[in-house]
Amino acid sequence: MNPGESVVGMPDRLQKIQARVVAACERAGRSASEVSLMAVSKGHPPSAIRELVDLGHVLFGESKVQEAKLKMGQCPGSAQWQMIGHLQTNKVRDAVRLFSMIQSVDSLRLAEEIQSAADKASKTVRILLEVNVAGESSKFGYPPERALEELMTLNALPRLEIHGLMTIAPWSPTPERARTVFRKLAELKRRCEDRLGAPLPVLSMGMSGDFEVGIEEGATLIRVGTLLFGERRYAKATAEAAESEEE
Ligand SMILES: *Cc1c(COP(=O)(O)O)cnc(C)c1O
Repeated sequence: MNPGESVVGMPDRLQKIQARVVAACERAGRSASEVSLMAVSKGHPPSAIRELVDLGHVLFGESKVQEAKLKMGQCPGSAQWQMIGHLQTNKVRDAVRLFSMIQSVDSLRLAEEIQSAADKASKTVRILLEVNVAGESSKFGYPPERALEELMTLNALPRLEIHGLMTIAPWSPTPERARTVFRKLAELKRRCEDRLGAPLPVLSMGMSGDFEVGIEEGATLIRVGTLLFGERRYAKATAEAAESEEE
């Protein structure tokens, strides 16, 4: 067994997370059906993804277009994929083709590239605006006020559908520290809805370390990697996918 790999199997890990989602929803007076669980499969091989699909799981998140592209071919067609990592403009064409949603739109320039690629592909692309709530220099994402400023311009791009907001809280061993960040994102979503005059259904916030706080603050989508799959092992993930490509 590899270090970092859990002794508990995938079915148990999934079930435990689902139970914690239900408990957090109860605390917050919400229905568990309001919260979707995304399995963040970056750094994990197709075999682990297939195991989860066999358990009936549908939604997966990937951070890199190349890695995702390689792995998707080795996974059942029932899996649904969303892009959650920083998107470079030279990868936009592939991203538009491969993902059912791009959660990491962080500039007008990127949005315009997506618009252009979507137009060529005659597709509509669902997006979230990634917001850097805490203003960390190490992270991508819109400064909150800027997202609000550009909202109507983004909304006018005909091939883009804005579904909501996404954020990553600063890393901390104390989940409670993410609460202010999540609360601010929820508040920003309300301001965006006011400006648009329409509801934004998706609030993507909360990861392995802080998803319960995310749910308590209104998350409709949580993105869980490590708690489901164990520690990430990129080399193995890519090697396995590349190997089965050659077959
Ligand atoms: C990697 C990643 C996650 C999952 O993180 P874990 O701590 O492993 O659950 C969630 N969201 C984004 C944007 C990520 O890049």
